[in-house]
Amino acid sequence: MSYSNQPQQRRRQRSSFSSGFKLRLLFAAGIVLFSLVSFWNKGQTNPVTGKVQRVDMTVKEEIMMGLQSAPQMGTPSRDREAQNRVALIGERLVSRLNHLLLVERDVSNPFRFNFTLLDDRRTVNAFALPGGQIFLTEALYRALGDGREGDARIAGVLGHEIGHVVERHSSERMAKGNLIQGLVSAAGVAGGGYDSSRIAGYVGNIVNMKYGRQDELESDQWGIELMILSEYDPRQMLDVMDVLEASSGGGSTPEFMSSHPRPANRKVYIEQIIEEKQQKLLEQKRFQ
Ligand SMILES: [Zn+2]
Repeated sequence: MSYSNQPQQRRRQRSSFSSGFKLRLLFAAGIVLFSLVSFWNKGQTNPVTGKVQRVDMTVKEEIMMGLQSAPQMGTPSRDREAQNRVALIGERLVSRLNHLLLVERDVSNPFRFNFTLLDDRRTVNAFALPGGQIFLTEALYRALGDGREGDARIAGVLGHEIGHVVERHSSERMAKGNLIQGLVSAAGVAGGGYDSSRIAGYVGNIVNMKYGRQDELESDQWGIELMILSEYDPRQMLDVMDVLEASSGGGSTPEFMSSHPRPANRKVYIEQIIEEKQQKLLEQKRFQ
């Protein structure tokens, strides 16, 4: 009895295995479809750049989220003079940005900018929250130096961060993150194992990193344009790269380095942008 029963059992096992696989594949395809459709449905026109972007939040929500998270970013510096200097430079950049938007694009700036110097003398870093909350650590602030040249370097860093806000990079990254998460879980379901989802996760990271680099270059472009419009020497952006490169070798935590492309690689691009932007300005003056 048992002898004749064995092949039948095996056949039953095999067919349940293949139908299970088909079901998993179907389920995975469903997840992929859902992730892609919801990603494409997120299209929003950026009020500042005019580009259509896939983002989860409105600008208002970005501003609210930024304001809510700001207190958790660290203690503001007690150095009043330094704090004022940072705020003044930031405000000058924003006023030029507002002017540019009104004149060139006929839109008013929907973001709400705020510049905070953080009481952190060890971490060389600057970052922006969605909506316009921008932070600079004292460690980076001191490394950027005094005088007019120091002002220009601070303007370069703040202008770069303004670029991240205006381009809505973090919202974009969040929407992409959700898409990738959907795809990763689909791969996990289809493969039925841990390994394939880990591979998909790895691929997801590479995609994220690539977008990150592109974002950085876009922000460098904004930084340089705002420096020129605010009458800061744009070539000081090259010195900012040297400061960052130097800080990566020292004892300070190179956080800015891990999320940003290597400063040396950015310098070639920055030189190119400075030339382009200055050319654009000259042409505009010729037409006036
Ligand atoms: Zn950046």
